[in-house]
Amino acid sequence: DIQMDIRDVRKVYGGDADNSVVALDGVTLRIRRGEFISLLGPSGCGKSTLLNILAGFQPVSSGQILQNGRTITKPDPSRTVVFQDYALFGWMTVQQNVEFGLKAKGMPRKQRAELARSLINMVRLNGFEEKYPHQISGGMKQRAAIARALAPDPDILLMDEPFGALDAQTRVLMQEEIARISSAAGKTVVFVTHGIDEAVFLADRVVVMSPRPGRVRQEVHVPLPRP
Ligand code: ADP
Ligand code: ADP
Repeated sequence: DIQMDIRDVRKVYGGDADNSVVALDGVTLRIRRGEFISLLGPSGCGKSTLLNILAGFQPVSSGQILQNGRTITKPDPSRTVVFQDYALFGWMTVQQNVEFGLKAKGMPRKQRAELARSLINMVRLNGFEEKYPHQISGGMKQRAAIARALAPDPDILLMDEPFGALDAQTRVLMQEEIARISSAAGKTVVFVTHGIDEAVFLADRVVVMSPRPGRVRQEVHVPLPRP
């Protein structure tokens, strides 16, 4: 059951040949429904570019990406993203940030508030609901961003180094939580990291990318059962 079919995707930044950068050079990858994939590779190998394209934020230069057989052309609530730099709305409280995607879906106010609160508890931000992003730490912002991405119950969760700002202890807790949620809810996760431990701990399959230009170098199926 293929959920995302990435076919020979090429991405070139910059129009003219002199200073153009080939970020992805023919990436082909098929992602099954419910699969947890880690994208592993050194800085600059095109991981963020691929994630942004999967999100629909950027067009491919050539090739194609299908979700359930349909070409991805723009962002969609069925795919949410947790960015490395959080990208929380600065003018909204933690609670409002988490509720954002639910409001867009038209969920009634009370239900929205309840769901947001349970997600805020899950990421251990209870007590910080009314804070604005500038009032909380980097790790807390990261956790708020994770709660916001989970709120609309997406089919596909795209995560770009989502635990980078966390201390070691919180990171392990969040890793376990993400592993639990993704397997319990059958979510498809594409998880970008340059941490090999993290990649292997979380994933069903580790996709190793090689730099310059970005290509899939190796795919490793992780045989261990997930927690
Ligand atoms: P990674 O996430 O693996 O670090 P990126 O996808 O960020 O890799 O970058 C892949 C390549 O594309 C790098 O050479 C980077 O400098 C280049 N790149 C990324 N974004 C842009 C951009 N907006 N314009 C030009 N080059 C870019
Ligand atoms: P994290 O690894 O989550 O970023 P920090 O080391 O930044 O954690 O902070 C540890 C704890 O200190 C937080 O979980 C929180 O309880 C508290 N804390 C950090 N920053 C703030 C803040 N700006 N306001 C209130 N409490 C904070």
